[in-house]
Amino acid sequence: MELAKLIPNEKDETVKALLVYAFICRTKFPLEITPLLECVQSDNALLSEVAVMSLEDFKDKRIHDLAIKMLMEKGLKSLALALLHSNYEKRDEEIIARLIAQAAQIPHHVQLDIVAISHDYRFVNAYPILFKVYQKGDCSFCRWSIVRAMKRHGVLSDEILEECRYDFYDDTQEFAEKLVAKRDKRKPCRARTLGRVDTNLTWRA
Ligand SMILES: [Zn+2]
Repeated sequence: MELAKLIPNEKDETVKALLVYAFICRTKFPLEITPLLECVQSDNALLSEVAVMSLEDFKDKRIHDLAIKMLMEKGLKSLALALLHSNYEKRDEEIIARLIAQAAQIPHHVQLDIVAISHDYRFVNAYPILFKVYQKGDCSFCRWSIVRAMKRHGVLSDEILEECRYDFYDDTQEFAEKLVAKRDKRKPCRARTLGRVDTNLTWRA
């Protein structure tokens, strides 16, 4: 509590970042969150980052609005999606989809945040978001989580599944192999039908 009270008046931003850091993980910030919202908007990258982390579990309309403002102004390079996770609203899908579509590359932290959001909420139009994060994501470990998110949303196509069998990351390969095996087990009738058609063709020839 005493540490929290020091934050609004601390002038040195690095010291301020260390004070805010005390409220990540174990202790939730015990006071009104306005000083933290101000820290998020600081040009000091360390202070902004720890402030985002300290606010991640708070549900508050102001956090939502700040996250959207950051997305509009700075795009995906900001840590806004991490703030949005606990404060997500359905209508936010549109701006997320647009930014993901425009990005040349999707950094690891955005992959993580998209996985977290898609885990707790359902995207109405999940395919373009998840597919583009899959395609343009930097991190192969996160790609595995994205593939699982696609499965959960029912948008994991056979084509992607086939590609995943040759993924760089073992767990993605394994996940794909299991799904392919399950899928093929479910389709014996179709295979038999195709076999019969082939026989007919041979017979006619
Ligand atoms: Zn990653």
